[in-house]
Amino acid sequence: MPEGDTIHKIAAFMAPRLTGQTVDAIRLGANAAPQFTGAAVREVEARGKHLRIALDNGKVLRSHLGMHGSWHVYGSEESWQKPERQASLVVAAGGSSWVCFNAKEVEIVDTPGVRDRVLGSRLGPDLIADQCDPGMLVRRAREFDDGDTLLIDTLLDQRVAAGIGNVYKSEVMFVERQTPDRYLADTPDEIVAACFTRAAELLQRNLGGGKRVTRFANDAAGRLWVYGRTGKPCHECSTPVRSQRMGRHHRGTFWCPRCQR
Ligand SMILES: [Zn+2]
Repeated sequence: MPEGDTIHKIAAFMAPRLTGQTVDAIRLGANAAPQFTGAAVREVEARGKHLRIALDNGKVLRSHLGMHGSWHVYGSEESWQKPERQASLVVAAGGSSWVCFNAKEVEIVDTPGVRDRVLGSRLGPDLIADQCDPGMLVRRAREFDDGDTLLIDTLLDQRVAAGIGNVYKSEVMFVERQTPDRYLADTPDEIVAACFTRAAELLQRNLGGGKRVTRFANDAAGRLWVYGRTGKPCHECSTPVRSQRMGRHHRGTFWCPRCQR
């Protein structure tokens, strides 16, 4: 599942290969007409879970992978590994095709433009790219609290801070020993700050290659604490891990009923 660390890894791979290249064609959707041929790529950037490819004609290609999206790159002779109809965005440049399959959102926005500013205001500071002051994150968390917000929903709220997805949500709550039904309004500032600080640390530690790791023990027991481990023994106390759909969007939430109480 793509989270903030995934998008930063994609941007880090794409930026040196695509920046400065002249775009031969951009297609939004498999059957759309090509657009903006002749513009050059000015910048490739991850903002939270959004990837932004800025062109020198003032346009930005914005994509959000959602749960099922992925980016592929193909040489001109290579055949695609997924059907063309699943292509949400195709950027042909420098002899390669960069293809975003099954995205949740793709769009072309003007910058600076109203739409770009609206998107910017919808997105909090990036936990990987920005130096986030914990006090500022706590203030943002409180600002978006309607009094009825679970702490797990605050962690997922990209307006508060961008980057945490559903895997890190459960993992951070375990590492910080917070029960998943805790309300933000009942959570002291220092615990909210600790959760975001932990999330930023885990996201940043996962920017290298390989699988996502939140448990850095040098053993075979596993690289995640609770996510996806329903019914399996907790790595700390052997109590079976529980899971339930919880929060505003009924997302799968995993926890240890003994360690997190
Ligand atoms: Zn436990």
